[in-house]
Amino acid sequence: MSRKFDVIVIGGGPAGYVAAIRAAQQGLATACIDAWLNRDGRPAFGGTCLNAGCIPSKALLESSELYHRARVEFANHGIGVGHLELDLGQMQSRKAKIARQLSGGIEGLFKANQVTGFFGYGHLLPDNKVRFTPHDGAAELLEAEHVVLASGSTPVELPMVPFDSDRVVDSWGALDFATVPERLGVIGAGVIGLELGSVWARLGAKVTILEALDEFLPMADAQIARDAQRQFKQQGLDIRLGAKVQDAEVSQAGVRLKYEDTQGGHELAVDKVVVAVGRRPFTQELLDPLAGVDINERGFVEVDDECRTTALNVWAIGDCVRGPMLAHKGSEEGVMVADLIAGKTAEVNYDVIPSIIYTAPEIAWVGQTEQQLKEAGARYKVGTFNFAASGRAQAMDQGAGLVKVIADAESDQILGVHICGPLAGELIGEAVVAMEFQASTEDLQRTIHGHPTLTEAVHEAALSADRRAIHAINR
Ligand code: FAD
Ligand code: AMP
Repeated sequence: MSRKFDVIVIGGGPAGYVAAIRAAQQGLATACIDAWLNRDGRPAFGGTCLNAGCIPSKALLESSELYHRARVEFANHGIGVGHLELDLGQMQSRKAKIARQLSGGIEGLFKANQVTGFFGYGHLLPDNKVRFTPHDGAAELLEAEHVVLASGSTPVELPMVPFDSDRVVDSWGALDFATVPERLGVIGAGVIGLELGSVWARLGAKVTILEALDEFLPMADAQIARDAQRQFKQQGLDIRLGAKVQDAEVSQAGVRLKYEDTQGGHELAVDKVVVAVGRRPFTQELLDPLAGVDINERGFVEVDDECRTTALNVWAIGDCVRGPMLAHKGSEEGVMVADLIAGKTAEVNYDVIPSIIYTAPEIAWVGQTEQQLKEAGARYKVGTFNFAASGRAQAMDQGAGLVKVIADAESDQILGVHICGPLAGELIGEAVVAMEFQASTEDLQRTIHGHPTLTEAVHEAALSADRRAIHAINR
């Protein structure tokens, strides 16, 4: 006899656990199976995001930023701290405690919403049957009207620089260093490489980031990427573009990374290497070949706009399907799928998904970049505002960077907002709401923003699109 549910979700990361909670809220009998095991062997819901991604990285970014500011910026505020000490053990325990608390929170939410949680592996069989294999026990057969696949992603490994869990690590390993490496090499100047590079640079490591592409952050607006690159350079972050890593020699003494750029071959000697060259969908052991779920040539579960797979009543969401690998994108897909299963109408607005890089300065954007609009031959207008003219940013000692608002030249509808500066990841929220409601720059211009706040910079950038900025010279 198999246990029956309305919905079984396989994967308990931010896509899967959110889908499960929403489905249960819709009155559906829901189970969520998750295989995550932490380093101490403890199972935990929350997936990569909570256990090895978004949350632990933000905890360390916050701690390292405070340390860095105490070391470098406090004197400017007239604060002397005497001898500053770094207790990395405490920093790491604090990080682990936050993840533990939040993961426990998901278990609480499951109980409150009557989601049945299972720790172990889920394997989709034909006809919406699921074989559940607990971490320490015999397999059990479950079945459901609908199955949602949310198995996430895993770091890409470079064959010439294989992970060894010591000298050469992935992003999870780089969140767990017990000591600050003297010299750290990071391969890949994407979001994860920049965030992890920043953590260890702030804590005192000499960080070198090797990036194969010639362009810095090609997915961001070029003006914003240039500004961020200039600020990182000023901070002493050594980012080498056009540097293709070819080989690595690992020894007792460290790692010699061999890379090539237009000038020829180079070597970089470091103590540790973080390989941050992207992530790939994870679907290992997830599917019986007869289940009817197609995987495309890049390894993603094939889905339509509503996250339906090629098998009837089997859905897939989050990092294991197309689209940006972002926690909030997967969560929104989870909500949509649960609502669709419950017979409601729902959709995800893929055009308005914010991207955030939690470096200092933070970088955040939503919508289209200026280069994308130029390429499409669109007629647009641009407004910018520098944080240098923001009283709040100056009070915070963070007057570098800018807000850029791009709007349609005729309709005035906002097409993209790009920010490099203090709390950009929070500020972008206003832009996301505005774009979700198809707001114009005039809507933002006529909205009262508190003073003195960083949001005034968004307001002024919107005014500047019509050359109406008050606290900047309109050119
Ligand atoms: P995951 O979080 O990967 O969860 C999938 C879960 O499914 C895992 O627990 C896995 O064990 C489980 N699973 C897989 N197969 C099975 C199976 N057969 N049976 C049972 N369970 C299974 N995104 C952001 O939006 N903001 C950030 O700031 C951010 N920072 C990041 C920092 C780092 C260092 C990393 C690595 C990632 C970061 N991300 C961030 C990306 C984010 O973590 C992912 O986009 C997100 O976790 C994807 O959610 P998911 O639910 O699809 O998959
Ligand atoms: P992301 O996909 O945003 O996580 O970024 C990963 C980055 O790693 C991309 O910008 C890639 O260009 C970069 N990358 C991939 N392979 C290499 C390599 N061999 N050497 C240096 N950078 C690389």
